[in-house]
Amino acid sequence: MRVGVPKEVKVHEYRVGLVPGSVRELVLQGHEVVVETGAGAAIGFPDEAYLAAGARIAPDAATVFAEAGLIVKVKEPQPFEWARLKPDQVLFTYLHLAPDPEQTRGLMQSGCTAIAYETVTDAQGGLPLLAPMSEVAGRMAVQVGARCLEKEAGGAGILLSGVPGVPSGRVAIIGGGVVGSNAARIAAGMRAHVTVLDRNPRVLNALDVEFNGMVDTLFATRDAVERTVLDADLVIGAVLVPGAAAPRLVSRETVARMRPGSVMVDVAIDQGGCFETSRPTTHAAPTYVVDGVVHYCVTNMPGAVARTSAVALNNATLPFTLQIAEKGWKRATAENPHLAAGVNVQGGAVTHPAVAAALGLPC
Ligand code: NAD
Repeated sequence: MRVGVPKEVKVHEYRVGLVPGSVRELVLQGHEVVVETGAGAAIGFPDEAYLAAGARIAPDAATVFAEAGLIVKVKEPQPFEWARLKPDQVLFTYLHLAPDPEQTRGLMQSGCTAIAYETVTDAQGGLPLLAPMSEVAGRMAVQVGARCLEKEAGGAGILLSGVPGVPSGRVAIIGGGVVGSNAARIAAGMRAHVTVLDRNPRVLNALDVEFNGMVDTLFATRDAVERTVLDADLVIGAVLVPGAAAPRLVSRETVARMRPGSVMVDVAIDQGGCFETSRPTTHAAPTYVVDGVVHYCVTNMPGAVARTSAVALNNATLPFTLQIAEKGWKRATAENPHLAAGVNVQGGAVTHPAVAAALGLPC
């Protein structure tokens, strides 16, 4: 199959659908890959790297869309991109259609088969193509939180690790899933004093086993959350209730009682945020202060580390990309129910029940 990689077009989106290593795998399996010039240049993957991996470089996106049977991207297509999609084409990318009727209509009108990364499943009931970005965001939450604790960033002037004779900083992580466990690994690695709160006893048990007492775990009652937050230098919000807005677990009153210069990183901001004082921010202006507490609430944290994120995403998507390229979407989804769960739009209709229900469309 001929696989196409257009350059991402959303503002400050530097990731790329296929990195050169993935291109080489596809080429070795006998596929052709067409990459728009400059598609990976911003994250250190110049055209030469794609050529060396066996790709052909196209001068523009129009050529990629005209020639490829499978388009691999990162972000949802923009209106001029829907217009280029054709009935015999497969689009494989993040789509997030539920809150986006306009894009859904565009994809339906194109007649293409649109497979969304975010609804592909795995045998454990997880979402394997969302997990890499949660891993990145969880690890990054500690990095940005540590930076915000520095004095000139508005923080209390605390080094998370402490030094001999000075205690380490206290980190509270609310939610111990993919984001929370990755944040715990980095915070514990920095020698901070870490407490993870969750409402799922299995999650607490797994963390207890993994960290062998190096990290405290607490069942997330309101009382436990409030006490731990008030004692923390850095609070990381990492909860998820699938299909729902994030629960507001830290009230405005609690924030007002926190020590000045404490820091809150609300990773769950893309689901509305789990602190009452959270509002979405961007990488251009990532923080603001409420009652002396620094808030970091960037909705697309992985974008800041686009090279790591692109490679991590490719590691997760490549096995599926190879299946689609080798078998075509029909046989690939017939043989792999987890890939089939990713099909959101096909033949002019929405085919994913939850997406259809969210948009009030038949399925
Ligand atoms: P996950 O499902 O792996 O983990 C969520 C955890 O929250 C689960 O362990 C669950 O038991 C726990 N939880 C649910 N309700 C709770 C409550 N009331 N109190 C305590 N714990 C509770 O999800 P994840 O992949 O870790 O994602 C977490 C959040 O981070 C999601 O909202 C996700 O969309 C978001 N995220 C944001 C970014 C970003 O750039 N801002 C990037 C990646 C992920």
